Amino acid sequence: MKIVLIGIQGSGKSTQGNLLSSKLSVPYLSTGHIFREITREHTPLGRYVKETMNAGYLIPDDKTLKIVSEYLARPEYQKGYILDGFPRTKVQAQDFKNSIDYVIYINVSDKEALRRLSLRRDGRDDETEQALKKRIELFYKFTKPVVYYYKERGMLHEVNGERSIDEIHQDICKILRI
Ligand code: AMP
Repeated sequence: MKIVLIGIQGSGKSTQGNLLSSKLSVPYLSTGHIFREITREHTPLGRYVKETMNAGYLIPDDKTLKIVSEYLARPEYQKGYILDGFPRTKVQAQDFKNSIDYVIYINVSDKEALRRLSLRRDGRDDETEQALKKRIELFYKFTKPVVYYYKERGMLHEVNGERSIDEIHQDICKILRI
């Protein structure tokens, strides 16, 4: 099963993604995680990604698409995957060549997302208050069009993310009929 999770930062995507990953036995892939790994490389790409992420900006679409398709070509992703953080722009959604069975939008208000993030702030360089606000702004500018893109194609399923982890998980399982 190939699933895309969409939601503002703090919506609980990674929690839900990991729960689904163990239930379905398919790998969970977060582009934020991939990019954080790349920042540890002492390469020009690593430095570039680090600066871009710390400012709260998005990595350009061509680089992102290339990196994601390289990952998904690996044998462990052939049975399926749960994508978190991708596609994040309409161009990424349009140019993504792999198939998708379900797109789940976990809807959480900005106020609730900021409240959760202020509780969990764990000193990550890309989680300063300024970078977080920038990401919320970018979510509306770039990722909301992705929500509409999948909605128009009848692929979008929306869940209310302002409930308990278990209730949200149950809702997603109903959508996926698992
Ligand atoms: P996340 O952990 O999903 O919030 O991602 C952290 C950061 O990684 C983002 O603020 C972006 O700089 C970068 N990033 C993650 N996914 C993407 C994507 N699909 N397109 C562009 N940049 C991304």
